[in-house]
Amino acid sequence: MSTETEVPLLCGGHWERSASERWGDVYNPSTGERIARVPLCGAAEVDRVVKAAAEALPAWADRPVVERARVMFRFRELLVKHADELAALVTREHGKTRSEARASVERGIEMVEFACGIPSLMMGQSLQNIATNVDCETIRHPVGVCVGITPFNFPVMVPLWMFPVALTCGNTFILKPSEKVPLSAVRLGELLLEAGTPPGVFNIVHGDRECVDTLLSHPQIAAISFVGSTAVARHIYETGTRHGKRVQAAGGAKNHLIIMPDADLDQAVGAITTAAFGCAGERCMAGSVAVPIGGIGEPLVKRLCQTAAALKVGPTDTGASVDMGPVITRQHRDRVAGYLDVAASEGAAVALDGRRTRFDGDGFLIGPSVVDQVRPGSRLATDEIFGPLLSVVRVGGLEEALALGRQCAYGNGASIFTRDGWAAREFKQRFNAGMIGINVGVPAPMAWFPFTGWNQSFFGDLHIQGVEGVHFYTRQKMTMTRWFASARESPHDPIWKK
Ligand code: NAD
Repeated sequence: MSTETEVPLLCGGHWERSASERWGDVYNPSTGERIARVPLCGAAEVDRVVKAAAEALPAWADRPVVERARVMFRFRELLVKHADELAALVTREHGKTRSEARASVERGIEMVEFACGIPSLMMGQSLQNIATNVDCETIRHPVGVCVGITPFNFPVMVPLWMFPVALTCGNTFILKPSEKVPLSAVRLGELLLEAGTPPGVFNIVHGDRECVDTLLSHPQIAAISFVGSTAVARHIYETGTRHGKRVQAAGGAKNHLIIMPDADLDQAVGAITTAAFGCAGERCMAGSVAVPIGGIGEPLVKRLCQTAAALKVGPTDTGASVDMGPVITRQHRDRVAGYLDVAASEGAAVALDGRRTRFDGDGFLIGPSVVDQVRPGSRLATDEIFGPLLSVVRVGGLEEALALGRQCAYGNGASIFTRDGWAAREFKQRFNAGMIGINVGVPAPMAWFPFTGWNQSFFGDLHIQGVEGVHFYTRQKMTMTRWFASARESPHDPIWKK
């Protein structure tokens, strides 16, 4: 791909060059090199794409549900066939290691497999004789034109959380991928067209706030799925619902990992290292605050520093094997590094300083950091840093750890490492977050379960994934029918007379 590759829109089944005067740059974070230019679409262009999706809606919604599912079966086969190529693309524009990228593609494929079961998932309910000779049934209809607005950190997986279910439910869809990683979305669009999606059923626009705000207020949009930071999630939820749209908006996170004194230290250190530094800490389910209880703090921090320091960090697109790649942009790397100065100003102890790791080239690389003695309520304890930096808040007991959860604005995930069943049960019951891990560092649910963020990690009612996802993309219709036994006596009806 030359440096001047222009990312196209997908409108009504056609790949188009945007007429926008505003364009952004897409980088390879491993090298710092610009690899493409992405249009930042304005209102008129977005409106055209919405019209294409609206035009395609009636015929697609009328297609038998098994036919819609069959398109998804074919899409699944294409994704499997091209999984390595997609993983390479994710590595190129996002910077994940190849194995992380490949795993994220596989998680996405599982969402497509889930959507293939839509004939069962979309079934309604019925009950006969709810009153004398009265029957009742509910059926599920598509909601209309749906929009997906996605973040940079999972360029293939997060879009696949959304459109396979939306489409098989009979909706048409507009994807607005992160302008930092639009290339994977384009490849998904190509494969979906190859799988037999009719023109206009799936569309792609690119852009920033102007593009998103046009979608949020557009009268022909019925529902919006969003994944990204909390500030933007709140904006999407408030603006979308004010315009009468159904909205699910997943936001940011600060996830706590509690280590009980009886924990298996080897197991905990391995799981925490992966949770904190996997995907360079750029995961909404990353473990970003370790909370050792009592005397385990000392050996835990020592061992975490050793394992983190031993991680091989470097560019991910050279074929060399590395454990951790770059972060998404130069500015983001500098922001993460800036938190090590914040740590010093807040009186915390930088136990491992990722700024000390030296790299050749211009990639957006920074080593892993561990900051000990972080005070509850400080910025290191509460801000979503979204990079390879683990804060350690030492506490005296489980009650103090539970209090950290109550003070946290977010509520995505939290994990406990322990051999004590009662402590695990208390934690599961009482920690103030929507996804709980017990001896699991990253308790991210798979396709069949909803992604149940709480507090400011989620705005809306129906979560993404699982049956809740199907309910989000459908609306119910109830029919009540009364039958008259007197019909048997009707002189006009010859059937009963025979
Ligand atoms: P972001 O909020 O900056 O961007 C997400 C999307 O919103 C992008 O498509 C972007 O173009 C658009 N956007 C950005 N600013 C906007 C604005 N002012 N108005 C309208 N649209 C705007 O998020 P990001 O940096 O791409 O992704 C990282 C964030 O996503 C982190 O906070 C992470 O925790 C979160 N995330 C959450 C989940 C989850 O399930 N809760 C999953 C993945 C990522």
